[in-house]
Parts: sequence; structure tokens; C-alpha cells
Amino acid sequence: MIDLKDLDYDELTEYLVSIGEKKFRAEQIFSWLHKGAESYDEMTNLSKATRERLLQETYVSTLKIREKYVSKIDGTVKYLFELPDGNCIESVVMRYHHGLTICISSQVGCRMGCRFCASTIGGLVRSLTAGEILNQVIFAQKDVGERISNIVMMGIGEPLDNFDNVIKFLHNVNHEKGLNIGYRHITISTCGVVPMIYRLAEEKLPVTLTISLHAPNNEIRDTIMPVNHRYKIEELLKACKAYADTTGRRISFEYSLIHGVNDSMANAEELAKIAGPLHAHINLIPVNKVEERDFKKGSREEIQAFCKRLTELGINATVRRELGADIQASCGQLRKKVL
Ligand code: SF4
Repeated sequence: MIDLKDLDYDELTEYLVSIGEKKFRAEQIFSWLHKGAESYDEMTNLSKATRERLLQETYVSTLKIREKYVSKIDGTVKYLFELPDGNCIESVVMRYHHGLTICISSQVGCRMGCRFCASTIGGLVRSLTAGEILNQVIFAQKDVGERISNIVMMGIGEPLDNFDNVIKFLHNVNHEKGLNIGYRHITISTCGVVPMIYRLAEEKLPVTLTISLHAPNNEIRDTIMPVNHRYKIEELLKACKAYADTTGRRISFEYSLIHGVNDSMANAEELAKIAGPLHAHINLIPVNKVEERDFKKGSREEIQAFCKRLTELGINATVRRELGADIQASCGQLRKKVL
């Protein structure tokens, strides 16, 4: 059985024509799917015969909300979605002055093994299909009842480890007959899978690329991010430059401040040397507590001092505002609880 959300617009058109439908049906069905229709019966402009024909070999996939938490402080909503095979993923809807942003997952689990991350405990179960990635946006938007205008792929999984499905998802979510979310409103985060950064650049989509850097040198990065054994910082920076040159988009770096590991003033200075030539923005994140690990957050003053040092060195750096503090559950924690 085919999930029609796993097809892009052209594939959908081709499929419909192959079963004897007119081309314009693609626009109708694509639009219903993206509006969150949960069955062909809801697609009232399709004839009964068309609906019955579709049911022979296709289906409309859905996502079940298994748990949902709403922050009383800032309205952040965290979802634990259940996939049709019973696996769970997380998505978070955040409220910013420019509208709603959703953080979505790209895989069930992750094989990248970053030491500070709960999502990788238990390894990779499987990659999400293009339809499953899209469903997070569709069903979160349906649930909150407001348009989601920005997407960050920073939830569970390494998006570039699920490259083809992520690219198909990007085409679909951007399509004018669907949710029509501009590429410039989409951010992809990677831990640094260098060859795939070059491949993403070749797609020439103006999406923002953000690198989970978390260390200012190879010595530290080797101890907290296994991907660094494969691709060293120097190679990663070269790929970042190629991405920025090809797409015209500025790179940003995510940097989790781990007390006593990567948060000294000397580390700030090393980091500035890395970010400076790329004009990269640095997002500082006070590290999240993961029960199985012994990483600690620095004090608010230490975090501010680190940020100030970067700014003094001419780097555009900010400390990420903590959203949904009362519903905690940092990335990967909800799913881990269920497991
Ligand atoms: S930080 Fe991202 S890439 Fe690293 S283990 Fe977690 S989900 Fe995977």
C-alpha cells in the first residue's frame, strides 16, 4: 500500500494518471492531504469511484498524539506522536513573535551517538518516511489550530542520515498547493556528516544549515561527538563554506555549554576563530540534563560571560531562550520515558 504523502507532486500526478484519473485530481488530493484529511471520505470533491479506486492500493497516513504537554509559561507544546508501527517520535511547537515554529524529528532514534543527547540512547530504530516527517507539521498545525510558518529539523535523528526522504519532504512542504512553507523558513541541523552537506548544497535549496558543533577543537569534539572521528572540524568547516557559497545562506552553529568540558574562556576564543571567517551565528545552549550522563550546566553568569567574550571578539552569538521550562522533557526524553 502506498502512502500518498510519500510521493511528491509530480509522482502523485503520474500515479493518478496511471490509474485513469485526470491530472487536476493531483491538486485536489495534494491539498486535502496537506490540510490534514484523515481519510478519502473527507475529500468531498472526489467521486465515490475515485475514492474506491484509491483505496485499492493507497492510504492516507496519520499520526496519533500519544502525549501532549502545554507550557503555562509561554505556550510551547510538546508532542509525543505515535507512528502506525507503534514507534514514537517527538515534535515541539514554539511561539515566537514572527509566528509558530515547529521542531520535528527525522528518524526514530539516532545512530550518531552524541554524548549529551538522549535521542541516541538505544541507537537508530529506523528512518522516517517523507510522509511521516510531513505528518508532524500537518497534525501539530491541525491540533494547535494556527498556521505553522517555520520548521527546524532538530528533533530526534540526524536529517542528513535520511537524506532522500528529507529532500522529498522539503519539496512537499514548500509546494504552493500544500503547506507552502518557504525554504528560507526551514532550518536543517546536522552533527556534521560532511559528504551529505555537499550533497545538500547541490540541491540548491535556500534552507538554513545549522551545525551541532558543541566543541571548539577536535580534542574535545572527539570525546563528545563520535562523528568527529570520521570528519574532523577542518573538513566540516570546508563543507560549511561550500554550502554558504553555493546557497548564499549564512551558517549557524549550535553550541551546548557543558560545564568544565567546553565552556572556558580559552574555548570561547577558539570558537571565535572558527566562526569568524564564516560569519557564522552561534546559538549557545545551556546543556540539557540527561540522566545517563554526568554533564552539568554552568551558572547563568558563566554562560553570559562566555557569550560576552564571543561578542567582544566580533562574533554574533546569543544564548538560546529556554522555552517550555515547565514542561521540561528536553529532546529525546519523552520517547525514552515511553521506551
Ligand atoms: S544530537 Fe542529533 S545527531 Fe547527535 S545523537 Fe542527538 S539526535 Fe543524533
